[in-house]
Amino acid sequence: MKVFSCAEDYLRHHRPERPVLAFRPHAATRATKWFLDNFPGRVLYATKANDSQPILDAVAAAGIRGFDVASLAEIERVKSIEGAELYYMNPIKSRGAIARAYYEFGARCFAFDSHDELGKILVATGGAEDLTLFLRIAYPNTHSLIPLEGKYGASAEEVPSLLLRARQHAARLGIAFHVGSQAVVPAAFGEALNQVGQLIVASGVMVDAVNLGGGFPARYPHSDPPGLDCYIGEIAKAANVLVVKHACELLCEPGRALVAEAEAVIVRVDARRGNALYINDGAFGSLFDAAYSGFRFPVRCVTPDREDVGAAETAFSCYGPTCDSADYLPGPFVLPDAVGEGDYLEIGQVGAYGRVLANRFNGFGDFEEVRLTDEPMLSMFAQMEPRKPHVLRSARI
Ligand SMILES: *Cc1c(COP(=O)(O)O)cnc(C)c1O
Repeated sequence: MKVFSCAEDYLRHHRPERPVLAFRPHAATRATKWFLDNFPGRVLYATKANDSQPILDAVAAAGIRGFDVASLAEIERVKSIEGAELYYMNPIKSRGAIARAYYEFGARCFAFDSHDELGKILVATGGAEDLTLFLRIAYPNTHSLIPLEGKYGASAEEVPSLLLRARQHAARLGIAFHVGSQAVVPAAFGEALNQVGQLIVASGVMVDAVNLGGGFPARYPHSDPPGLDCYIGEIAKAANVLVVKHACELLCEPGRALVAEAEAVIVRVDARRGNALYINDGAFGSLFDAAYSGFRFPVRCVTPDREDVGAAETAFSCYGPTCDSADYLPGPFVLPDAVGEGDYLEIGQVGAYGRVLANRFNGFGDFEEVRLTDEPMLSMFAQMEPRKPHVLRSARI
């Protein structure tokens, strides 16, 4: 991958036909190191947020050893990382997948949320005695922008018998939850840990680990969450009153928070109609969440040597390149009035749930890739003032 100092620098030498994923490895490194330095336990990476090789290499180089995986395909990708430890945390797996994960790939950590699934794991691993089993509990996702509840999780009534049975087979027993993605209220983690504490007491079963899942937020124009140190504070406070606190390992498995800042997409405007821009990536590409999850992403015009047309700004919406009218990104994308056909835009914060959600609908879905060394438009980690996202920069000196 070629390296440039910024999007404008790249575009001075190239006129890419396809959208361009711009990778900032230093952003993934910084986020990962922050979690490793500040989280009071083991930090895993949630592979589904972005399983591209450069991202996996960056989080591994920063010190991640454990990977939360949900499929055999993710397991095979993660196995490219030397020494990777697998946490197969999807609560529903086929027997064949469990067996291959255990025998072929060396997975020892598995999640379950029912007696049926626990039975499948025990049978498919031949009654193995070296398993770490995590009971995924249900937790209401009231504090997150993308709720994940309803699909998985044992209810409070089911927990005691599940813990009791798993305890008899597991080398290590844990409880796992997920507060929902982009959890904007730090207390979500404290409340969930309090609930875990009550379930442990009610069950009378000791556990060796609590996995707090993901949900740690990134920064977007519509969502400016409190600092991540507030989240760590809530977690430390609640963990400190767990009955099992001395014998219990805490784990977390952030996806979004580690990699959101590490990729942006550079798109070209192919048409302008009123305040709607027709761009060459969209809902079926790396911008799914802009269409379907109500997300706003930071944007700036990065056409090199563009005449500065003043500070006036307009709220644009965008259409992606496919012929489906659902390929619509309401935004608003705030850009200079003069933006139009031929301009290039950098849309930031798509490192998590960007490229992994892109498909090949209508023949689109291919990206160029470059590396950039400048700062992302928004950051939860940068010491510096984040760069103002929507200023049209005149590069003419
Ligand atoms: C998706 C997922 C994560 C990562 O969630 P983020 O909100 O991206 O941090 C972690 N754990 C599990 C089990 C998940 O399904």
